[in-house]
Amino acid sequence: MGRRPPYGTNMADISKHRQSLFCSDPQSIADYETAMSNAVKAVSNWLKNEKMYTGGSIRELRKTIGSFNPSKQGVGVNQSLDHLVDIFLNPSLKVHHPHSLAHLHCPTMVASQIAEVLINATNQSMDSWDQSPAGSIMEEQLIDWLRQKAGYGQGTSGVFTSGGTQSNLMGILLARDWAVANHWKNEDGSEWSVQENGLPAEALKKLKVVCSENAHFSVQKNMAMMGMGFQSVVTVPTNANAQMDVAELEKTLATLKAEGKIVACIVATAGTTDAGAIDDLKAIRKLADAYQAWLHVDAAWGGALLLSKDFRHLLDGIELTDSITLDFHKHFFQSISCGAFLLRDERNYRFIDYKADYLNSEYDEEHGVPNLVSKSLQTTRRFDALKLWFTLEALGEDLYASMIDHGVKLTKQVEEYIRTTEGLEMLVPTQFAAVLFRVAPEGYPAEFIDALNQNVADELFARGEANIGVTKVGNKQSLKMTTLSPIATLENVKALLALVLAEAERIKDAIANGTYVPPID
Ligand SMILES: *Cc1c(COP(=O)(O)O)cnc(C)c1O
Repeated sequence: MGRRPPYGTNMADISKHRQSLFCSDPQSIADYETAMSNAVKAVSNWLKNEKMYTGGSIRELRKTIGSFNPSKQGVGVNQSLDHLVDIFLNPSLKVHHPHSLAHLHCPTMVASQIAEVLINATNQSMDSWDQSPAGSIMEEQLIDWLRQKAGYGQGTSGVFTSGGTQSNLMGILLARDWAVANHWKNEDGSEWSVQENGLPAEALKKLKVVCSENAHFSVQKNMAMMGMGFQSVVTVPTNANAQMDVAELEKTLATLKAEGKIVACIVATAGTTDAGAIDDLKAIRKLADAYQAWLHVDAAWGGALLLSKDFRHLLDGIELTDSITLDFHKHFFQSISCGAFLLRDERNYRFIDYKADYLNSEYDEEHGVPNLVSKSLQTTRRFDALKLWFTLEALGEDLYASMIDHGVKLTKQVEEYIRTTEGLEMLVPTQFAAVLFRVAPEGYPAEFIDALNQNVADELFARGEANIGVTKVGNKQSLKMTTLSPIATLENVKALLALVLAEAERIKDAIANGTYVPPID
């Protein structure tokens, strides 16, 4: 009694472990094949159901899902899969549905889905060559290809990321530390290293990042995470096309200089999240040079035009930037996550270089072992690059370009249609694949139009008819359609707008006379 058995005497029967683990066990392989084929069938059935969304209201969906209560015994893979098909797969939003266009949230390529099977099965990790031998080399090749598309020239300076937020963080972080190295010296005259010493005390108030007021909020969030606070971000007003106003940028830069500030970085945007506006990269580069600032371009959305046949010129000047954010899980139709960061001059990677003896030793580096960990903020990292590789190789550039350009062309047609349809109003001229508009029935009191637009969108979602975005343009409540789908047609959008108008008609009087109950409650 009370005596513990020596180690090793009560080991579990590992045959069950082997069956549950993804490994060479024959039963494990057989179970994998069966369950995968069941999962694929369930997904196919879900695809065949034409309804955009079937989950109902938040309250209804909470009831469907219930609480999480795993048992001691487990129910087995098959039974659990059936349950998850019911509570997760079937009530999930169909992002490929032509009425699902609220966000920069894309339908995905078949090649991307198949690549995910290989990515997950192999579970390679990109932080060292011996954890992803083929993957490391392939990612470097793809980065090289992307650099050339962007006009950066050959090289491997860049890395796949979890998305735009992380890529923006990399650009802004490198820019800040580069600016500090340029402007602050140690006593022996060598450049100040933020990585070693942290920020010089005066840098906190002196260094600024400048972007347009339509830039993505991750600029502010990232500066806050970097310890600089929102105060370090100066926003420039936009012009009537929602682009950074270059004359205003010039004024802002001059004012900051006169105040003794240092602009570390200008963040231009190629494809603002709401309006899809693409800043004038060439003009901004000139100003960045005049003020010795780093130019980062957030091309999370617009970067897809690198492949475009008809709209590539909208990115003219991207080759002149210092760093680029790309997101493939937006207008490149890759599954989440898939993004990249490109750095024009690889020497600037020195600001985040870090040697871990067990991952990227000097010995390995001397022998040319691919070293991706020092190009990334992440350590363990997925081989997401395979999805883009597979898609490009399978489809070819022409079909890919056609799928990217479709949405941009459709957007022009939709704009024309809205301009000529009574009861609808365009709020910003379209440039890329976003439509900012609102419903405004003739003679309807102006003070209720904002509420009307919000509730039309909420009603259509709750019934599973459509997912339309709601945002603000100036102080106006706006509806938003992100028309990037390569399979949506003008007829689809007309049908959607007919629903919008009918819904507005149905609820507008109740809103105006105060008897309306929103579906979100
Ligand atoms: C979506 C988006 C981001 C953020 O990217 P994530 O992949 O969601 O992190 C950044 N910038 C722009 C312009 C975006 O549209």
